[in-house]
Amino acid sequence: MATRNRIGVLDLQGGVLEHINHLQALGLNPVRVKEASQFDDLAGLILPGGESTCLIRLLNIFEIAPKLKEAFADGMKIWGTCAGAILLAKNIEGNNSQLGLMDISIARNAFGFQVDSFNAKVKVPKVSNDEIELTFIRAPKIKELGTNVKALLEIDDYVAAAEDENCLATVFHPELTSSLAFHKYFVQKCGVKVSTDSDEHLSRTSWMKLARITNPSK
Ligand code: GLN
Repeated sequence: MATRNRIGVLDLQGGVLEHINHLQALGLNPVRVKEASQFDDLAGLILPGGESTCLIRLLNIFEIAPKLKEAFADGMKIWGTCAGAILLAKNIEGNNSQLGLMDISIARNAFGFQVDSFNAKVKVPKVSNDEIELTFIRAPKIKELGTNVKALLEIDDYVAAAEDENCLATVFHPELTSSLAFHKYFVQKCGVKVSTDSDEHLSRTSWMKLARITNPSK
C-alpha cells in the first residue's frame, strides 16, 4: 500500500497557485494534481475555490472523480475552499450533489453577486489564537451540518467553516490572505509535519492590495 505523506491541490481550475504558495511557505512540496494517477501518495487534497459547475465538469471529463473517491475511502483527507466546499457537500440547495463526501447542506452564491464579495477578520479558536483575515468571494453558506460534522466558525445564520473526521470545508479563502493558520490546521489534520512556527506568510496576492487611488481625476 502506498504511503500517504504528501498534500495535493486539485489543479483543474480556480485558485490553485495561492494554495501551493501557502503550502510551500509551510515547508511542504505540494503536488499539483491534474490526473487520477496522482492520488496514490496523498495524505490530503485541497479542492480550490473557483467555479463549482466548471470544476465538476472537468473532474468528470478527465475521469478523476472515481479515483478521488477511492483515495478518500483509503484515508486521504480533503479540504474544500468555497467552490471546493460545494463539491464536497452531500446536499447543494437547488442542485444535485457532486462528490457528496461531507454531510453538510450548502447554498451557492448565498451573499449575492461577485461585487458583494468581502473581507472579514475573525477568531477561529480551534485554528489559531490570533484573529484571522478571511476573504469571501461570491461565497456559499453552509446551512446545515450532519451529526458527525462540527462547526469551526459560525456567523449570523450560517456556518463558515466546518469539519468532520476526514473533511474540512471553508466558504472563504485563507489562501488569498497572509494567514497560514488554516493551511497549517489542515496539514496537521492530515498527519503531515510543517516546518515553520509562523502563522503569517507575507507574499501578497491581488486580493490583499489596498485600493489606493493616487491620481484622482478632478
Ligand atoms: N460562486 C462559486 C460557485 O458557486 C464559488 C466561488 C468561489 O469559489 N470563490 O461555484
